[in-house]
Amino acid sequence: MTSRDGYSWTPQDGLKAGVPSLGVVSPLSNIVSPEVEYDVVVIGAGYCGLTAARNAALEGLKVLLLEGRDRIGGRSWSSNIDGYAFEMGGTWVHWGQANTWREILRYQMEKDIEMSFDFEKGVKHFELNTPDMGVTMTHQEEDQLLAEALNKFTNVDGVYGRKIIPLPHTTFHNPASIPLDSLSAQDRINEIACTLSPRERAVLEASILLASGGTLETTSFHEFMHWWAMCGYSYQGWLDLLITWKFRAGQSTFARRFFDEAVASKRLAYSFDTPVQHIKDAGSGVEITARDGRRFRALRAISAVPLNVLGAVTFDPPLPPGKQQAIGIGHVNQTVKVHAELSNKDLRSWTGITYPHNELHYAIGDGTTPAGNTHVVCFGGQNKHINPEADIPRTKRAVSSLFTPAHYDGQGVQIERLVFHNWSKDEFAKGAWFFPPPKLLINHLEDMRARHGNVVFANSDWALGWRSFIDGAIEEGTRAALEVRRDIDKLKGRGNL
Ligand code: FAD
Repeated sequence: MTSRDGYSWTPQDGLKAGVPSLGVVSPLSNIVSPEVEYDVVVIGAGYCGLTAARNAALEGLKVLLLEGRDRIGGRSWSSNIDGYAFEMGGTWVHWGQANTWREILRYQMEKDIEMSFDFEKGVKHFELNTPDMGVTMTHQEEDQLLAEALNKFTNVDGVYGRKIIPLPHTTFHNPASIPLDSLSAQDRINEIACTLSPRERAVLEASILLASGGTLETTSFHEFMHWWAMCGYSYQGWLDLLITWKFRAGQSTFARRFFDEAVASKRLAYSFDTPVQHIKDAGSGVEITARDGRRFRALRAISAVPLNVLGAVTFDPPLPPGKQQAIGIGHVNQTVKVHAELSNKDLRSWTGITYPHNELHYAIGDGTTPAGNTHVVCFGGQNKHINPEADIPRTKRAVSSLFTPAHYDGQGVQIERLVFHNWSKDEFAKGAWFFPPPKLLINHLEDMRARHGNVVFANSDWALGWRSFIDGAIEEGTRAALEVRRDIDKLKGRGNL
């Protein structure tokens, strides 16, 4: 089935809005009677909402799941085109992400994982292009360069962050780390600038922007260090945990398992294409009003809506000032992710950075399509932001500019297909994964996590561990379902476990 979301472009068909996805839900609703009072309404069917709805339903609660889109998965979903999966959002998973891996094992999907990289044949090199230099190097040299640069950036305490962020799930466990949240990535680069070679500086800046999707000035250095700590304080961990393993058949196959299991419990009602407009907390329960005017009642609500679009939902009573301020600030990630299918077969083993002048600054060979072409996944962000669908020739130029034609028989690359989702223009996301500007977390992490009366707020954006990852969404959905089940056990006079 085809979702409204996403775009594809081919020379034959031109630009098309909407791409096929296994995540599309049909029929859009299974609600039989609007008069039912649910135990809990879950708003948002990303991994957080799916986990919360599934867990609550499995634990015996009567659950209603409301979602603005026509599909599950939120910021993680795949489009299967000719049997090949293009990841529109969240992609990479790893066994070091404990919540995600628990679910992969639960659904016996451990054999459905494959590696993005394949350095076996073809060009087997890394390209670094800046306005002042164009170099190719082996992947071993690429790793050495990146490791050197990232080690310099993160070595704030002589042990690469281990002392300053010893327990990353407790964000500010060591008070000495608090000042790092007032620093931007640019501030930290300024501190170490004299130790960086031009190559190190270029790959470091491109890597930081690949993580944050913002600018160097809007990237919290503390949050970067948090990611680094989660990755085991090493470049190898960074590579392994962030960008190596993915689902062969795409994220939507994974999200489906959560949804299908919840539906099979027969305690899940759902309605897609149902954006929530207003949440009223009457003390004894909540009343949810959808944009189309429909009203739903429940004892509790779980809002699994991301930070950057939470402001579109109104609350009665209004949200407390701290939460409102966090929503007003928002996160800074405006990543642009573009898949390109290239007829150049040798590029499967290619990786590259073209920075800072190109709209897409980082890319890797990510697969081989059924046509035998190379699939390259390319990333840009706020640094030189584009809306890929607005100007396809420019988007194609941004892809081509990652490659120096001289290295490829003077021909450059041949683009057969583009696939992408514009996360910045998406009314239900307004950005990609969460990445905070300086001071957002120290001032508002607790505000973002706090419940408001009968409404529990859960989202990957304010998870404690893999905040901004799929794992963080599952962490948060698990927390929210348990919190609500405990509430309802108490209300109904059942023992509180
Ligand atoms: P979401 O997935 O955003 O779910 C929220 C849901 O709420 C959405 O379905 C939305 O439509 C719905 N909603 C919003 N407003 C309303 C409303 N008013 N009414 C009803 N419904 C509403 N993570 C990784 O682990 N690995 C990666 O490789 C990775 N890469 C990424 C690449 C990109 C381009 C992006 C965008 C994200 C990536 N992430 C990655 C992050 C990961 O996708 C997210 O952190 C995670 O999917 C968030 O899940 P969530 O359920 O917390 O939020």
